[in-house]
Amino acid sequence: MTFNDLGLSEELLKAVTACGFETPSEIQEKSIPELLNTERDYVGLAQTGTGKTAAFGLPMIQQIDTDFNAIQGLVLCPTRELCIQIAREMTNYAKYSKGVKVVAVYGGASIQDQIRAIKNGANIIIGTPGRTIDLIGRKALKFDSVSKVVLDEADEMLNMGFKEDINEILESTPAFKRVWLFSATMPREVERISSNYMEDPIKVTVGTKNSSAANIEHKFCLVQGRDKYSALKRFADHYPGMFGIVFCRTRRDTQEVAAKLMNDGYNADALHGDLSQGQRDTVMKKFRNKTITMLIATDVAARGIDVDDVSHVFHYDLPDEIESYTHRSGRTGRAGKSGISIALIAPQKSGKIKLIEKKIGKTLELVKAPSGQDICGMQLMKMIKNVQEVEIDQKGIAPFVAQIHEALADFSKEEIIERFVSVEFNSFLKEYAKSGDINVDPSRIRKGADDRFNDRGRGRSDRGGDRGERRSSRGGETNTKRVFINVGKMDGFENKGQLLGFLCNQSGVDGGSLGKIDLFDSFSFVGVDDGVGEKMISAMNGQNIENRDIRVEFSQDKPQGERGGGRGGNRGGGERKSFGGNRSGGDRRSGGDRRSGGGDRRRSDAGSTESRAGGERNFRERRRRS
Ligand code: ADP
Ligand code: MG
Repeated sequence: MTFNDLGLSEELLKAVTACGFETPSEIQEKSIPELLNTERDYVGLAQTGTGKTAAFGLPMIQQIDTDFNAIQGLVLCPTRELCIQIAREMTNYAKYSKGVKVVAVYGGASIQDQIRAIKNGANIIIGTPGRTIDLIGRKALKFDSVSKVVLDEADEMLNMGFKEDINEILESTPAFKRVWLFSATMPREVERISSNYMEDPIKVTVGTKNSSAANIEHKFCLVQGRDKYSALKRFADHYPGMFGIVFCRTRRDTQEVAAKLMNDGYNADALHGDLSQGQRDTVMKKFRNKTITMLIATDVAARGIDVDDVSHVFHYDLPDEIESYTHRSGRTGRAGKSGISIALIAPQKSGKIKLIEKKIGKTLELVKAPSGQDICGMQLMKMIKNVQEVEIDQKGIAPFVAQIHEALADFSKEEIIERFVSVEFNSFLKEYAKSGDINVDPSRIRKGADDRFNDRGRGRSDRGGDRGERRSSRGGETNTKRVFINVGKMDGFENKGQLLGFLCNQSGVDGGSLGKIDLFDSFSFVGVDDGVGEKMISAMNGQNIENRDIRVEFSQDKPQGERGGGRGGNRGGGERKSFGGNRSGGDRRSGGDRRSGGGDRRRSDAGSTESRAGGERNFRERRRRS
């Protein structure tokens, strides 16, 4: 079957070709003719990444009467990111369909701009429920000519508590409209609730319901909770070129894991609901252009995110809702590519494995966290490859050659190789030499699904450090407490001093009672004297910055920003960073302060030449340092 067989207009076929789509996906093949030709409500269930947007978007565009200046189509979706994504996609589809105007409305962006866009003429609105209600209230949106309403990711909208909002929005649409519901999963309760919105809908399910895409490998790694971070890092070190999303259950977990990774020199950042819209956009932009290669996200924040080429999805914790497992894994293996999903599971939680397997209709394969030796071997070979491929600047080194030869004259070729490798590699070997095996014996996997999937009240002990690999950073610090603040560089604080001033002004505490500050892109940590944290928390929570609530709370884990002992500290960290850098493309700056946005400009404007030059510079710098 081809797109030509579906009844689509010339304009749409042209746009589809321009998008590079060759054949319709199964859900498109089944939905498009149905949505073009029948007047019934419709439910389309298909896995993530199967092209549901085009499945409803193309028929919606085709049925817009462009002589009639009114909103005729409405798409509701759960998150701002998704909203933007759908609008972008549908705008592409409508490229040649003259007079079709798609406008996205979502929270966190200027409502005036959106009102203006609507006034300029919109016939399709893509909206999040909250902002849509808001605009109805302001009489900026009128839906009395809407004939098609799409509920995209309907289950998630209902999970997120948008039920009342959706009811209200649908009430403002005419009785004759049709509702098209699209989702990856359809839990029974959602089915029940959504039956309120639809009358005897046509139901189309593609693939096994809830099963996951065939091109995703599902794996799990059995480690103790306290070794999860270490396991994550090992996988990251072991897969050069990893481009991954790490899912955590809570906002705070995402921040903590991201902070640790950043301190360890990885291009990582957190994405969660507490960030301002600007912050989220920045993070997503960096992820899309691969400035960030590890995105640490909550389920909701990453819902529906469509970034191609995600190679790995990690479940740092298993989700509360088993449905979320499918959504998470579906962030990889998009558009026919292959992907790997790895769940880090503590033995106590291993009963959930069976539940997941039942849900996705596949078995989860046990994988071991790579050993120090595996990783060293991998990194070493990578380095050797760099040596093989490096371009030699004959002219540049000419003045030094004689001197170098003289200094090395007493070494044999073998010795020289060993020494050069050691210079590069000692810190890395050292990191992993005594790291030991963190894998838990598979005999400890629970056979029954006796622990309930919903375990919200879980204690904090399930998380934490990477024993052994960072023991030195524990203990002996003077800061007894640290607070977390959801304010960072993205809010305009260019250095710690600026943030310090802000904190003192806003909370009335004395600068002398604050200790070490770690300033990250979207959040910060600050050490506090006894009693000072409480004062900051009560003074600052409830305040605003850029229309966003400031949030201050005690950090329970000591962030790895604690310098002075650990390898996260400066010197060792510096060397280590350069290795991490090679992992993600060989171009991370080693010497520079990563947190000053060192990575940010890499790919976008520097291009590969500068990146390579940067890599070589690192190579030299590191040598000089040691
Ligand atoms: P879903 O909503 O089912 O999760 P999307 O609509 O977001 O999936 O589509 C996933 C990706 O596949 C997008 O990048 C989209 O552009 C692409 N895509 C959609 N349909 C096709 C097709 N027929 N051929 C190739 N790529 C497609
Ligand atoms: Mg979708």
